[in-house]
Formats: sequence, C-alpha cells, structure tokens
Amino acid sequence: MFARNFFKGGTKVPHFKNTAECETVKMGVPEKVVIPMLQHVGAPCEPCVKKGDTVRVGQVIGNSDKYISSPIHSSVSGTVNDVAPMLFAGGIYVTAVEIKTDGKQEIYEGIKPPSFSNSKEFISAIRESGLVGLGGAGFPAHVKLSPPPDKKIDTLIINAAECEPYITSDYREIIENSWNVVSGINIIMEILGIENVLIGIEDNKPEAIKEMTRVAATDDRINVIKLKSRYPQGAEKMLIYATTGRKVPPGKLPADVGVIVMNVNSVSFISEYIKTGMPLIKKRVTVDGPSVKRPGNVEVLIGTPISEVFSFCGGFGIVPKKILMGGPMMGIAQYTLDTPVLKHTNALLAFDETTAVLPKEQACIRCGRCVRACPMNLLPLYLNNNSIRGNIEELNRYHVMDCIECGSCAYVCPAKINLVQSIRLGKAQVRQAAAKGGN
Ligand code: SF4
Ligand code: SF4
Repeated sequence: MFARNFFKGGTKVPHFKNTAECETVKMGVPEKVVIPMLQHVGAPCEPCVKKGDTVRVGQVIGNSDKYISSPIHSSVSGTVNDVAPMLFAGGIYVTAVEIKTDGKQEIYEGIKPPSFSNSKEFISAIRESGLVGLGGAGFPAHVKLSPPPDKKIDTLIINAAECEPYITSDYREIIENSWNVVSGINIIMEILGIENVLIGIEDNKPEAIKEMTRVAATDDRINVIKLKSRYPQGAEKMLIYATTGRKVPPGKLPADVGVIVMNVNSVSFISEYIKTGMPLIKKRVTVDGPSVKRPGNVEVLIGTPISEVFSFCGGFGIVPKKILMGGPMMGIAQYTLDTPVLKHTNALLAFDETTAVLPKEQACIRCGRCVRACPMNLLPLYLNNNSIRGNIEELNRYHVMDCIECGSCAYVCPAKINLVQSIRLGKAQVRQAAAKGGN
C-alpha cells in the first residue's frame, strides 16, 4: 500500500546503500569491552560492579531508580578491569565499566525467558531487557510502550524507513529475520491490545517491502506502507504523518495522536528476548565509507572498541579523515577509535580526505532554502543567528527546542553554514538558561 501523505520539507539525499546485500557476519569476542553507563535518553545508570569483580554474559552491571533510564548488562564474561569516567564525542564524561574478557562467554545464571501475564509485567520485563530504540534514538522502550492511561493507542507504527544514506541495518533485519519482526509485533499487539499495525518502508527497498508483505499476509491487521524516499522520512513525526495522516503538534508525543512508533530491530529484539531472556548485549552495525576495506554488516558485542570493528572489516584501505558513529546526516564524529559500540549504534562510517572535507562557510545569502527544507517548519537561519548571539529569548521565540537535528537545512545551504552545530549550541544555551532559572 502506498502512503497517502507526504511531509513538507526534507531533502533528497544519495542512498549509498552499498552493504544492502551484505549478510550479517558475527564478530568474535574482543580482548576487552568498555561499557558506558549512559547509552540511552534519560538518567545515567550507577555501576553495580567494581574493579576485580567477575561478571558473566547478560549480568546487570549498571542500573538506575529513575523511570526514564535503562539497565545495562555485560556483553561478555570476564573480570572488571576498571570503573572510570570516559570522555565522549559530545564533550561529556560518562562512567564506563571496562571488562577484560575470558573468552568463555559464560551465561549469567539468572538468564531465563521472562514470564508475564499482563501489560504491567510485560513492560517491566522490557525494562529488565535493557531495550532502547535501536534505530539510533536510544529512547527506553519500556517508556515508549507505557503511554499515559488517558491516551488510547489504536496504531503501532513500525519504523523501517532507514532514510539515512549508507545504513542497511534495519534492511538486513527484515531480509534475515522477518518472522521475528512479525512475532515481536504480535506480542505487542496482544499485550497492549493494539488492533492496527503499519510498517513503513521507503520505496528504495523493494526486497524489504516484498518480504514484509509476504510474512504479514496472513494477518489483515498488519499492513506494509510504501513510503516515498525522502530524508528524514524515518523521523517519528514525519513517519506518523506519512502513514496515518495524523499530525503530532509541537511539544506533543505520538501517544497524543494515538500511536506508538517502534524501530523494526527493536520489535525483532523483543521476540528474541521473550524466547531466550537474553538482554540487549549485541548490535548489528553497518560498517562502510570510502576508507573501509571490506564494508559489511557486523554483529558486534556492545562495548567493543570501534577500532576492532574496523579491523574486523579489513582495516582502512585509505587513511580516514573522519569517523562517524551513525549516518552522514545525523551521525556524531568521533575523536578516538577507542570509542565503544553502544546499544543504539547502527553504523560506523570512515571517510577519507576527499569525502570528509568541510567546505568553507560563506555569508548567508538569505535564499530561504534552509526554511523550505526544514520538516519542522522552523527558520534555521534565524536559529543560527540567535545561537551565535546567545539570544535565549529569540531562540525560544523561534522554537529552537523543536529542532530534530536532522541536518536537512545544512545539507541544502549553498553558503555551507554549519547550521546543525550552531542550532545544537543554541539548544544547549537554552537548557543552561532554564537550569539557572532564566528564560
Ligand atoms: S540556506 Fe543558507 S544561505 Fe540560504 S537562507 Fe538558509 S542559511 Fe542562509
Ligand atoms: S532546523 Fe533542525 S529540524 Fe529543521 S532542518 Fe535544520 S536540523 Fe532539521
């Protein structure tokens, strides 16, 4: 079925889905893993292990009593080497647990399939699994699956748009594990009493559309929606509009328009977790970019240093100038190859000098292209100006916090202004002012 609606703005980006036909390959156990206590939106976890402790696969090593948070598990068996702060690319320090692996991959004795008979127990089991949005957002899944009681949810939307260039992790999940996807959908439908499921896939992935249509054919409550390929089609609000025609107002959530949106890998994980009880300890990562010798899709244990993942893919054929965690539109540039793979890492991209070059910024020519490209109806040029000036009042007046940092404005800007970095800085200024009790 074709989507009836199409969001305003966005941009056409080249796809570069070079690894679409690369079957997922399992990477072995590294010598050590480094597992940060913040791999999700919300409160960081407190480590519950110390230096010298022995840990096993699936054991909880970090937890929090805050609602918006998610427990963190060991992906390996071994001995805790260190518990210390680690500097991340965003400039924040996060406590991380370093584990020297023993290569035995002994499973923690508490691992068993969860039992639940109602939605409350199900949500609690999902929290215990450590699942966060696997599409890259990292929002705790148990929070997503617990809409306020006064919000009636009638539709579950499965996000398989994967609109960022290069990334093929969601695509491979559909090709390799489509029955798991359907089984995860069925569990959520049954437990939460949802009657309507829409699976959104961009029309540049005909094989994924064919496969999902085939496996969903027996259940007329599940429909595959063919979406036009346009970035950022996979952003939550755009996807909701494209699949249902419902508009989520600024400051509101999907539950306010009766929907829950889950990534395709996340629902597939739920199916596996219900069968095995093994929490989230591994992730499929697309490894690509002009510098990588053997691009592919790799199943990686969480906490594996990205240097090891690149080595597994043959290392660098051309010296990389820029390493991105995530896609080229929303990914975060890394300052070190010691950075570990996180729960929501969906891609590692390495660009050489030619492809990584940042064009020199020019003065704004007030062409308005950034405004036309913004899917959130914002005025990126004004956000940029007010961020530079530190004008909190104007940043709020132009709704800076509604920016989803999709990068469409910067992509189309002929003056090559670093709009997203500037807007991120503007948002940080607004948060800081709010914390101080300012505007
Ligand atoms: S696209 Fe760039 S040059 Fe054009 S108005 Fe926006 S910021 Fe200015
Ligand atoms: S202002 Fe924000 S939401 Fe709008 S195009 Fe730029 S990055 Fe995307």
